[in-house]
Amino acid sequence: MSEKKRKVILTGDRPTGRLHIGHYVGSLRERVVLQNSGAFDDVLIMIADAQALTDNWDNPEKVRSNIMNVTLDYLSAGIDPKKSHILIQSQIPELPELTQYYMNLVTVQRLQRNPTVKAEIKLRGFSEREESQGTPVGFFCYPISQAADITAFRATVVPAGEDQEPMVEQTREIVRKFNSIYGETLVEPEILLPKSAASRRLPGTDGKAKMSKSLGNCIYLSDDEKTVKTKVMSMFTDPGHLKVSDPGKTEGNPVFIYLEAFAGEDAPNAKQLFEEYAPDYQNLSEMEEHYRRGGLGDVKVKKFLNNVLEEALRPIRARRAEYEKDLQSVIEILKDGTKYAENIAAQTLSDVKKSMQINYF
Ligand code: ATP
Ligand code: MG
Repeated sequence: MSEKKRKVILTGDRPTGRLHIGHYVGSLRERVVLQNSGAFDDVLIMIADAQALTDNWDNPEKVRSNIMNVTLDYLSAGIDPKKSHILIQSQIPELPELTQYYMNLVTVQRLQRNPTVKAEIKLRGFSEREESQGTPVGFFCYPISQAADITAFRATVVPAGEDQEPMVEQTREIVRKFNSIYGETLVEPEILLPKSAASRRLPGTDGKAKMSKSLGNCIYLSDDEKTVKTKVMSMFTDPGHLKVSDPGKTEGNPVFIYLEAFAGEDAPNAKQLFEEYAPDYQNLSEMEEHYRRGGLGDVKVKKFLNNVLEEALRPIRARRAEYEKDLQSVIEILKDGTKYAENIAAQTLSDVKKSMQINYF
């Protein structure tokens, strides 16, 4: 059982749009750090196209085209195909097979209680519609399919944003239940959340609770310099902060929340950012303090934020330009990653069937 001791990362994204800075601070940035740490035996990054189809079944072209967008976002953010494997979920038939066996271990009531599923059903308005337009069973069950993804690759660590906590918790329950019924087979994963609340769930540029592809309030990793500046300069701040001399609120103020994520404790280059772009302050707390006291204008803070974001986005854009020159090589990366991952999933499925005593021949 030395397999059990392997340290494995699994994360992923739905190919429903280009990736934004919320994905970056919520998960992508950490993946790159972990990938480069050399502390993991495997780093697997999954493009969850089958999951994306559970609420985009009528728009397969959207899902298909975003596979390339998301892959380019990964590579440009610093995912290195020599160290990480990028895979396409739908191309691994072992995953739905595992899902089917796990379905017996989860009740409808338990799924209904999953807070992320609840919120997403509400957001999509499924529960208010007539039967034929209601919640698709595939969508309702996606936490189970996510458990299959995580366990198929024997992931021990799942770096993700806050919305993924209930998913990993449900996966752990499934693992415990499976192992207690059929014998020790599956590995229990742990979620790895970013340090700051800001990075765990970055709000939208409109101040709404979550930056999200489906809400149109995003700064994308692929946005050009001018677009980013326009978005930053028109961001919401504290509506009570009218004159520069007025005391301002930093709490709940999206501009300061972004700064927390990009120039606060989660940012390894925070000190350098202040030295270079805001030398009047040692760190974010000092800048916040000034804003709360009054005398620090929104435009100045936004300009700083723009510089901070550019510092992160500039190398990302440069890498993207390189990869875009050779899309065929990107397809090869996906093929190789998927093949590698399927081998692991096949082994897990074989172990699962053995434990369940359904390996007849
Ligand atoms: P969709 O609207 O299609 O669900 P999404 O923007 O919510 O898209 P996902 O693909 O569901 O993105 O999430 C991918 C990863 O990014 C997850 O780990 C999730 O926790 C993280 N993430 C997504 N949005 C944010 C955000 N605003 N702040 C921090 N992390 C985020
Ligand atoms: Mg989501």
